[in-house]
Amino acid sequence: MDDTTLDEQMMRLAIAEANAAQAAGEVPVGAIVVGPDGGIHGRGQNRVLRDSDPTAHAEIVALRAAGLALGNYRLTGCTLYVTLEPCAMCAGAILHARIARLVYAADDPKAGACGSVLAVMNHPQLNHKAEVVSGLLAEECGLMLSNFFLARRGKKPLNLHPTSEAPALLGGEDDDKEEVVGKG
Ligand SMILES: [Zn+2]
Repeated sequence: MDDTTLDEQMMRLAIAEANAAQAAGEVPVGAIVVGPDGGIHGRGQNRVLRDSDPTAHAEIVALRAAGLALGNYRLTGCTLYVTLEPCAMCAGAILHARIARLVYAADDPKAGACGSVLAVMNHPQLNHKAEVVSGLLAEECGLMLSNFFLARRGKKPLNLHPTSEAPALLGGEDDDKEEVVGKG
């Protein structure tokens, strides 16, 4: 299996986690930690509401699970897959864990720390460098989030394969900054 196929397969598992989060009423974000051997060591979904925990973003949950599974706080050589660009907290945790490779789907123009808002990943003055790949299944993951917020505001969902009547724009016209607080 080549890298692209493996990446997509793992991102699909992260999407499944995001869907489970959504089913529980959480902002749909999911993450998976995969070892150098291709084994899955940790899964995570956003659970800030369920756990009353502002740090329970999908990435943090998956990193904690992988650390326990491997018996090591360093996840050297591992890849983290996540459906949304990590925030500053999660990017920091990814660096502390020494994750070798980060693959994320949709950009987060409101809180992303991989270049969208901040550039915590691969900051020139930080020691650990990770390979960062973005955009894999981004449309699907972005729409999942857009539709979640639209539904929460009682609006019609966007279409994954839009016609001229239903433009698939990420984010929408409302600039509701408070949504960022609950993201995964
Ligand atoms: Zn985060």
